[in-house]
Amino acid sequence: MKQQLLNNLKNIYGWKTKRKIVVISVDDYGNVRLDSKAARKAMDKAGLKVHTRFDAFDTLETTQDLEVLFETLTSVKDVNGNHAVFTPFALPCNIDFEKMQQEGYQEYHYELLPVTYEKLSLKDTNAYNKTWKLWKEGMTKGLMAPQFHGREHFNLKVFKEKLKKRDKEVFTALNNRSYTSIEDTGYKSISLTAAFEFWKFEENNDFNEILMDGLNRFEEVYGYKAIHFNPPGGREHPVIHKTLKEKGVKYIDTPFIKQEHQGEGNYKKVINYTGKKNKLGMIYQVRNVVFEPTHNRGFNWVDYTYKQIEAAFRWHRPAIISSHRVNFCGYIEEDNRKIGIKALRELLKRIVTKWPDVEFMSASELGNLITKNKG
Ligand SMILES: [Zn+2]
Repeated sequence: MKQQLLNNLKNIYGWKTKRKIVVISVDDYGNVRLDSKAARKAMDKAGLKVHTRFDAFDTLETTQDLEVLFETLTSVKDVNGNHAVFTPFALPCNIDFEKMQQEGYQEYHYELLPVTYEKLSLKDTNAYNKTWKLWKEGMTKGLMAPQFHGREHFNLKVFKEKLKKRDKEVFTALNNRSYTSIEDTGYKSISLTAAFEFWKFEENNDFNEILMDGLNRFEEVYGYKAIHFNPPGGREHPVIHKTLKEKGVKYIDTPFIKQEHQGEGNYKKVINYTGKKNKLGMIYQVRNVVFEPTHNRGFNWVDYTYKQIEAAFRWHRPAIISSHRVNFCGYIEEDNRKIGIKALRELLKRIVTKWPDVEFMSASELGNLITKNKG
């Protein structure tokens, strides 16, 4: 009952369309969070805990992960003859673990994603051989339409402070080519993975350079300029939107109810909807459907997600599905990927069966439609 109410509530305001549009926005692609099974084991032994399924399973996507995913996305077709498409909110950079280790963890160094893949293909050829080539094929075939999820998926201020303090947990993680299982950041307003969270408001100034460099790196890695942004790990303050806009970003993902941090633990509640514009004229997208099939919450995820899509269409809204890469990761446990992929396959089948006039599109294509107001 409560869930049904929320499903409807999320759809009361916003851009309207008679078309049955389904967008699948999936965060975290390109990010190295957990390196491998061996790394997890070594971190367990050193006392680093698994707090979430991300700590347990969220590895950089492997060749097998992508093969199974692409096969699933192409298992259905929409009214225009197009298969389903993921909009991965993706990262272009990862920690250069080797260089940092060589220097004794003095300062932060990053590397570009293709370099990461090159290194990993030597370390585990079976999992990572030609993965980047496959990734690019996925883009060419219209299965993956990546947009910007930041330069790196963690808070750099916290990272640098922990390096300076010679933090044991961080060193253990880094020694295992990982950055996960660390809970305490030292700030109640900043979580470890949130690149654009802050304590003092002026810390927002430091984000401009990260965004500018990150967007350049995104173009370098993925081959085109990003026009759509979803911040990694936590919500940004709109003061950083100016830089995003100057670099060509037009669309921003934001929650229905946003607790917007104003600095030093003060929050302002902001209500959002798809089609709402910020002061700079950039368009917001609110994900109105949740799909996290490997998060065991004691219900059937396919039913749960399907009902939310139904609610969106009832209100003549596009269905913008929110998900995370971890649902489709099988490098640590193949069963984790099996659960996620099976649910995805079932969901897609149900969508095309129930709504033969459905249209799959990427999140930025939807943004373009809203801009032209082509409902
Ligand atoms: Zn993320």
